[in-house]
Amino acid sequence: MAECNDSRCPVHGGLSVRGDVFEGVVVSAKPTKTVVVERTIVRFIPKYERYRKQRSKLYVHNPACINAKENDIVRVGETRKLSKTKCFVVLAVLGTKKVVKAEEGAAAMKEKEEKASKQAEKEKQPQAHAEHKEHAEQKAHREKNEAAE
Ligand SMILES: [Zn+2]
Repeated sequence: MAECNDSRCPVHGGLSVRGDVFEGVVVSAKPTKTVVVERTIVRFIPKYERYRKQRSKLYVHNPACINAKENDIVRVGETRKLSKTKCFVVLAVLGTKKVVKAEEGAAAMKEKEEKASKQAEKEKQPQAHAEHKEHAEQKAHREKNEAAE
């Protein structure tokens, strides 16, 4: 593990975490020692008696010993003001959000379509058979009628 000399680290720097603690997803880890975390809040709207999803993005301090990356699911804690825009710190990386790449997504779609078309063919076959049977019955009926005449 990298040595941590960060005074703004909750483990090695004696930074106190108090207030809000929540979990979110890192949407950007481009700045050094900072990540942008998006969190989703589900709020009840009394007027409509329904829930609404709200999203918000926050700048969060990312100490070297934690080193959270994009798409990481992280636990974030509230701290004192660390800079002009930061008053939160990453406490732990909990996991990674699964991201479907465009190519993989297209391949999966193709497979699905192929499966669907195969199933459609399978469903069609017995129907054709039934139609054939009907025809045969009609033919037999007609032949009977002709014979009667
Ligand atoms: Zn540290």
